[in-house]
Amino acid sequence: MNDEGRPDDRVTQEQMHALGRRVRALRESLRLTQDEFARRCGISVSFASLLERGERSPSYETLLTVARALEVPAAELFRDGPSLDAQDPSHARLLEFARKAHLSRAQVDRFIAVGYAMFGLEPEHRARAQRPQLCSVEGCDRPVLARGLCAPHYHRARRARMSED
Ligand SMILES: [Zn+2]
Repeated sequence: MNDEGRPDDRVTQEQMHALGRRVRALRESLRLTQDEFARRCGISVSFASLLERGERSPSYETLLTVARALEVPAAELFRDGPSLDAQDPSHARLLEFARKAHLSRAQVDRFIAVGYAMFGLEPEHRARAQRPQLCSVEGCDRPVLARGLCAPHYHRARRARMSED
């Protein structure tokens, strides 16, 4: 009864430490020094250090600035749990890149193929087998319907064949 507030304090402490670890992991994934990170956020290096150790509570405005500096949505700062350490936050940047560049499915396939070659990795055969065939018409990324063509191209080719007869 006398220490009713204690458990909440402890939870808050744990959340502060989780936030600090998350900020640090994201900063390191961007290969930013604490100095560079602090400058990006417009906060002092000592505050950045305290923040990463979970010893200071940032304001809402600072959190938004921190998220922007780390190039993630603010919600990303609070993603926590047992998977926190196992999950590399830098992987999210690949998805972000694909979205920003508006990569088509075929371009993503090519990008991943380059990645496998670049890092000397074996593509997963299962993943390769599951990949749908794409239309053979140059620049067309639609899935194949028949004869190596997507539905519109297949029907166009069929109409062309019929008019020849
Ligand atoms: Zn097509």
